[in-house]
Amino acid sequence: MSAAAAVEPRDVSRAAALAAELEGAHPLEVLRTAVEREFPGTLALVSSFGAESATLLHMVARVDRRLPVIFIDTDKHFPQTLDYRDALVSRLKLTDVRIVKPEPNELAKEDPKGDLWRADPDACCTIRKVRPNERALKEFEAWISGRKRHHGGVRAHLPVVEHDGGRFKINPLVAWTPKEIKAYMKTYDLPAHPLVAQGFPSIGCWPCTSPTEGTDARAGRWAGSGKTECGIHRAAPPLRRQAF
Ligand code: SF4
Repeated sequence: MSAAAAVEPRDVSRAAALAAELEGAHPLEVLRTAVEREFPGTLALVSSFGAESATLLHMVARVDRRLPVIFIDTDKHFPQTLDYRDALVSRLKLTDVRIVKPEPNELAKEDPKGDLWRADPDACCTIRKVRPNERALKEFEAWISGRKRHHGGVRAHLPVVEHDGGRFKINPLVAWTPKEIKAYMKTYDLPAHPLVAQGFPSIGCWPCTSPTEGTDARAGRWAGSGKTECGIHRAAPPLRRQAF
């Protein structure tokens, strides 16, 4: 499925009905509904294996450890993230982890020195995250994200299920607080990302992530630049007009 120019009203209605049904449901119930009832065989989780990722990965493993899990390897991750990814995959026995990378010819043409992040982080995210993510999701009708309302900004009012014009998106942990995530990790003895102990509440690529003690969980991402999202979570385009 490729990105549509306009979103179909029936997809928006289906997403809204699912969001209303699942608002307030436990994340495991949201996942089971998506995996078993709504999108069987055409759903994937996209995970950054960052500071809060272990909870959702663990829940996915409880529902179906064969679910495709996509990791976008931008080639700018902290080495600790790659080690953490491998340890979690092994611990949770996830069987279909797909590591996707930027296209080498695009990098050679658009970011030959690997320093585009300095001059144009939006363009860098497009080559290293948005396009690989879009390619990896081509075969899926829906995907699962780990975004939460407590992240603030455009995430503050996220629904449990949405449609972005190309696909359905499921946000099982949308209403969970940092306290609930911490409690879940403690209950199941899940390891924390090693950089959390060094003051990183949110972890992405090394050039664009800094430790922070701020109240905004994502304040350390692209700090001081005004940029808050990498672009893989796009806003829904306008509704396709109905034919009369
Ligand atoms: S987060 Fe930074 S390094 Fe990573 S893709 Fe975006 S701009 Fe590039």
